[in-house]
Amino acid sequence: MNNKFPKFVWFNNFGLSCSLTFLLLGLFLGSVGLSWVINSFLILIALITIAPAIILWRIRWWLRRDLVGDKCPVCSYGFTGFNKTECQCPNCGELLKIEGGRFHRIIPSNTIDIDAVEVSSNQLED
Ligand SMILES: [Zn+2]
Repeated sequence: MNNKFPKFVWFNNFGLSCSLTFLLLGLFLGSVGLSWVINSFLILIALITIAPAIILWRIRWWLRRDLVGDKCPVCSYGFTGFNKTECQCPNCGELLKIEGGRFHRIIPSNTIDIDAVEVSSNQLED
């Protein structure tokens, strides 16, 4: 028994017979008038290969548009959030609203927001 490359030959014969079977099946269906079966199969294969690329591109576009990275206006801790949503700073717990690519504090309507200025006692005496 001469078994030099039995598996290699078997795979080649199998691949050749498989592709010949598909070719003959395609020619038969085309001659009968069922080319729409082949066309729909090819369209299905094209959709299966193209759909993941389109989905990944859409997810990247959505993240680029809606993901905002900024610093908290209270404690300057940098983090990310989604645009046009409300979130809480993970560092200080301040409620924040994300608009226009920036973080803003959520302040009740009757609140006056002030910045404290430190004044040394020497300046007051002068
Ligand atoms: Zn904060």
